[in-house]
This record gives sequence, C-alpha cells and structure tokens, in this order.
Amino acid sequence: MGTYTIALLPGDGIGPEVITEAVKVLEVVGDSFGHTFRFSEGLIGGRAVDATGFPLPPETLDLCRGADAVLLGAVGGPKWDGLPSAQRPETGLLDLRKNLRVYANLRPVVAYPSLVEASPLRPEVVSGTDFLIVRELTGGLYFGKPKERTQRNGQRQAVDTLIYTEEEIGRVVHLAFGLAAQRRKLVTSVDKANVLESSRLWREVVNEVAKGYPEVRLEHMLVDACAMEMVRRPTRFDVIVTENMFGDILSDEGAGVVGSIGLLPSASLGASPPALYEPVHGSAPDIAGQGIANPLGAILSVALLLRHSCNLEAEARAVEEAVAYVLSAGYRTRDLLPPVGAGEYKVVSTSQMGDMVAHALKENVPRKT
Ligand code: NAD
Repeated sequence: MGTYTIALLPGDGIGPEVITEAVKVLEVVGDSFGHTFRFSEGLIGGRAVDATGFPLPPETLDLCRGADAVLLGAVGGPKWDGLPSAQRPETGLLDLRKNLRVYANLRPVVAYPSLVEASPLRPEVVSGTDFLIVRELTGGLYFGKPKERTQRNGQRQAVDTLIYTEEEIGRVVHLAFGLAAQRRKLVTSVDKANVLESSRLWREVVNEVAKGYPEVRLEHMLVDACAMEMVRRPTRFDVIVTENMFGDILSDEGAGVVGSIGLLPSASLGASPPALYEPVHGSAPDIAGQGIANPLGAILSVALLLRHSCNLEAEARAVEEAVAYVLSAGYRTRDLLPPVGAGEYKVVSTSQMGDMVAHALKENVPRKT
C-alpha cells in the first residue's frame, strides 16, 4: 500500500476537463487497491501566462520536483499565439521537459478490437496493432544550437541544428531495448542514415547497445520507409525507437492509424523521478468547454503513471482493461464515432466517459464479464 504525490498541471483548453476525469480514475485506483494519492495543482501554459506572466512559473517547477509524478493536460490556444517565444504556452512545456530531464517519450499505439472501425485503415490491416514509439525528447533539432535567423546577402535565412551525443542516443536506446525485452522482443530503430551524419552515429550507437540485449531482435529502418510501413502493415512493429523530430511526426501518424488522437497516452521518463504523463493531444480550443472531449488519452496516461512511476503493474492493467471494457460495451465520445453506423453507439460526454471507466474499475467489471 503506497502513498504517492502527484503534481497536476491541467493547463489550457480541454486540459482541465480531461485531467478531472483522470483524477477521478486515480482516486478509484486508490480506494480499490488501498493506495493514497496526494494531489497538488500548479499552473502551466496560457493560464500561467495570464496569472504570472510566465508559461512555467518557478512555483510550478518546484511543485513538480517535489512530486513522484507529474500529470499534465495540454497547453496553448489562439489567445496566446501572438506572444513572443519566451511567453508562449508551448515554451512552458518544453522548459518543463528540459528541467525534469525527461529524455524518453513513450507513446503506446494500440488498436482496440472494438474501435477498429474508427481507424481510416481497413480492419484487416489495423486489427492487432500494438506498438510502442520511444522518442528521444530533449536533444536533436528542437534544442540544438545555433537556432537563429540571420540576414545574408540581403536575404532572410534561418538555421536549426541537428546534434546528438552518443550518451544522448545510448540512454534512450537502452530504455527501448529494456522495454522490448518485456514485450515481443523486436526493436525497430528509425533514422535517415543514408543522408544524415547524426543518423549514422545513431545507427552506430544502436548497434553497440543491441549487443547487451541478445534476446531482442534489431532492425534498422529509414524514416520514410517507416512512415509507409506504419500504414501498410502496422502490426509488424513492436518497439520503435527514434530521434526527436522523426518521433514527433511518426507518433502522430500512429494516432492516425488507430483513429483518434483523443485516445493516446504518453509518458516522458528520465533517469530519476518525477516522470511526466500527458495525453498526446493538444488543448483542442475548437471543442473546449463543451464537455465533449475524449478523456481516455488522459486516463490511459494514468495507467502509464501507475506502471512507470509507482511500479503498480496490476493497477495499470486494471485501468487499461476498464477502458477496453467501456469501449467494447459501445460507449463513445463523439470523436470516436465511425463515419457510418454511428447510431449503434451510446454517445457520452467527457465526464460520463470518466464515470463509466471509474465504475468499471470499481466494480472490477472486466474481470467479472
Ligand atoms: P489538438 O490536438 O489540440 O487538436 C487537433 C484536433 O483533434 C482538433 O479537431 C481537436 O478538436 C481534436 N481533439 C484533440 N484532442 C481531443 C480529445 N481529447 N477529444 C476529442 N477531440 C480531440 O491540436 P491542434 O489543434 O493542432 O492544437 C491546438 C493547441 O494545442 C495549439 O495551441 C497547440 O500548440 C497546442 N498543442 C499542445 C500540445 C501539448 O500540450 N502537449 C500538443 C499539441 C498541440
């Protein structure tokens, strides 16, 4: 029976709506399994800018550093789009990841049997999809210097720098192999080694790390080929490990493969706690405040939090099974409805979906049915 401190950063747009449901589920986990979760809430993103002038106020960072795990909703929105870079909500999130030194972003991509019709791919292609994208999160093109605009010969020019050290590559690749060893034992390392020097170093380090995991099969794949394979044969993947920008793009493609971005969770892990958990989606200003956002990405992020920060595998699985059960029982937020045949489903609001999962978990419905 453990006690865990969770820093909650609901953020902007639909962030607070989905985090409310995630907390609801975490409280049921606490009651059902005898754990105590202590919550403390902080400001991040646009709401933090409005209140303090900063997208990541120092108090928020202190709150996170004192917690066992951080659960974040989403940041951003049109209200703050015109602000200078240092004040943009997204800068707050990048700074949080940097300060917490969370170098690996895990995004599971799972096609639930009851949701295959929500995918744009044919059911026989998407059925059985279950892979994990491990994206390097604190290096590469998004952080490399120089990163600037200059003038040359009277023209504007811009530069971003794609730089990796072997240490940055090695630690995320080790993590990916460790995770693959507990799954179907296949690592697909994605790069652009035919063109990029940084990718050639990536491949070299991956080959070195692989020697320590003889039970795990390794394949290398160019990022363009991977983008195509993901829609042609998504079931062939187990763990994909890749650098920051490739991972950013491929993980959204993964969301497209299984149908709705509202469904996908993520975990960002570093060498020491706290880790950061957040749904993959953004703040969805177009639907904020309407009570229709899908909270399952946030709820499944709770499952990752239980697994990776609390070492509570049974509790994590119980949450995932409760989600799968509610979907198989025909409950859908609007984003999960198929283009045809939507009438067969029971459409629920954000809070009703949270209630359904909490109820299934409390009554242990998946195990009883
Ligand atoms: P988005 O993910 O917010 O929305 C894309 C589309 O998906 C929208 O149509 C939205 O309604 C829908 N959607 C997203 N989450 C949903 C959910 N849970 N349930 C139902 N539908 C959902 O991406 P965007 O529109 O490109 O960005 C909106 C804002 O979010 C921007 O300010 C962007 O910078 C920010 N953003 C933040 C994060 C983050 O906080 N991690 C990530 C991506 C984008």
